Amino acid sequence: MRSLTDAVCQTRTQLSDGARWDLIIIGAGITGAGIARAAAQRGYRTLLLERGDLAGGTSNFSSKMVHGGLRYLGQGHFRLTRQAARARERLRQRWPDIITPLPYYLMHHKGRGPGPWPMRLVLWIYYLISGAARCHRPRWLTPEQLATRLPAFNLAPNLGANHYFDAVCDDSHLVLRTLEEAVAQGADLCHYTEVTALRRKGDRVTGVTIDLNGTPCQLAASMVVNATGVWADDLTELPEGLTIRPLRGSHLVFDQRDLPLPASLTVFHPRDKRVVFCYPWAGTTVLGTTDLDHLADKSAPARCSAEERDYLLELLPLLGVTQPPPIISSWSGLRPIVSPARSDGKQAAPSSASREHLVWESPGLVNVTGGKLTTFVEMAEEVLACAEEQGHLPEPQPQPDRILTRRTCLDGSTLGDSLVPRHELVHWARHGAIHQLSDLLLRRTRLGWVLGTGLRSYQAEIQRLCQTALPWDESRWQREWQAYWQQFIQYHQEPNDG
Ligand SMILES: Cc1cc2nc3c(=O)[nH]c(=O)nc-3n(C[C@H](O)[C@H](O)[C@H](O)COP(=O)(O)OP(=O)(O)OC[C@H]3O[C@@H](n4cnc5c(N)ncnc54)[C@H](O)[C@@H]3O)c2cc1C
Repeated sequence: MRSLTDAVCQTRTQLSDGARWDLIIIGAGITGAGIARAAAQRGYRTLLLERGDLAGGTSNFSSKMVHGGLRYLGQGHFRLTRQAARARERLRQRWPDIITPLPYYLMHHKGRGPGPWPMRLVLWIYYLISGAARCHRPRWLTPEQLATRLPAFNLAPNLGANHYFDAVCDDSHLVLRTLEEAVAQGADLCHYTEVTALRRKGDRVTGVTIDLNGTPCQLAASMVVNATGVWADDLTELPEGLTIRPLRGSHLVFDQRDLPLPASLTVFHPRDKRVVFCYPWAGTTVLGTTDLDHLADKSAPARCSAEERDYLLELLPLLGVTQPPPIISSWSGLRPIVSPARSDGKQAAPSSASREHLVWESPGLVNVTGGKLTTFVEMAEEVLACAEEQGHLPEPQPQPDRILTRRTCLDGSTLGDSLVPRHELVHWARHGAIHQLSDLLLRRTRLGWVLGTGLRSYQAEIQRLCQTALPWDESRWQREWQAYWQQFIQYHQEPNDG
């Protein structure tokens, strides 16, 4: 099977002035990856271009929940919730190794958030519209039952909890698996290659200009898709009256031994009654998310501010935790929210702004932004239908669906306290299109997030394990380590500018 490394190497050799594809897709987040896979499956000659690392944008900084969006049901977005809940079930069936069911305990406290009974009704609707298995139907937990399930915590007085199910994933692995399936179907792929402009002939987009090692290079395409998420308006304009409003969401990562949770606790925040989750992920416990306008430059990495950190930590006393445990790492993502451009600056509160995606087009070009990880397959179908309708693509030649599954290995030993098997690390070093060390440590594996600065103890072992797959000399390794730690610090420093 063609690996990501093979696909990138082969594609690079094809990038030259005038080279032509049926479809060029810009942006290798989950949206672009899903479109590339669907396009390759229809037999189109497809090229996916990414200016940074694969899954290096929002798709690696989400809350990692594959869910119908219970919150959106509460806000009356019935269609979005139903579509997403059904999509969750389909994804769970396709990739059970990446997307796993997660129990949620929605805790109720007196005078805060909707009462237990209205919420129970909402949860039953949620369950029924998703078509989930019977064992995942909602239940009620009394305060005593809840305390028994969370023996490590001295819970603040509560009214009990609604127990329901959703799913959790590794968002970056969701992108990578989708890309692996795309390249297995014949898609071409190149990362660290920025699209600097759209090429036009008259009104029609006819290709893109890329930055190829510092030199502009013109590529031609029958159709171009702009799937650049929160950066979609850098390459083209939104329909009149609309704008992209970047909303930042941050998460804190703790050692699971400090906050041992068997389920996601869903809590109404004491300050503003927003729903916040505290949940197990990749051997850690994650607390998030915040939701606020990102006023800083969106081309720089987004980071968790001190105010967001304090806001999230305010939840811990509900668990009886008065002294916050050490924070291992934190991540922040930018949500591309499409909202009306308003001259008076008045906007809906961030958490009530709609998460629905937007597809808009002009001759030769389809743009898509917003949406969710969970609904990427449906978004890809919609984008391709728009592209096909323009009539520039050749007749589709559908190929059979190829579902890739987890690699197994007899040696399942993991690296230190992480759940990352050593063989996974080596596999990604060899086959994961690694351009720099942070690709391997932050996105192919999640060692950077789950070990934080504790990863220093494993530097020598990581280098020894990966040296054959990444044949860098000692001075290159040293430079890579330095660059890795600089990047890690960038993600974790607090911004001064909100
Ligand atoms: C805090 C937070 C929590 C979330 N939680 C969830 C959740 O739990 N469940 C869920 O379903 N959804 C969730 N979402 C939403 C979901 O993460 C996003 O909708 C999704 O990841 C967007 O994917 P994307 O591919 O459109 O954008 P991105 O992942 O940002 O991908 C766009 C890519 O385009 C690239 N790019 C930009 N400009 C160029 C250029 N000129 N040339 C080449 N490449 C370019 C970027 O580098 C980037 O990699 C969350 C979002 C946030 C912010």
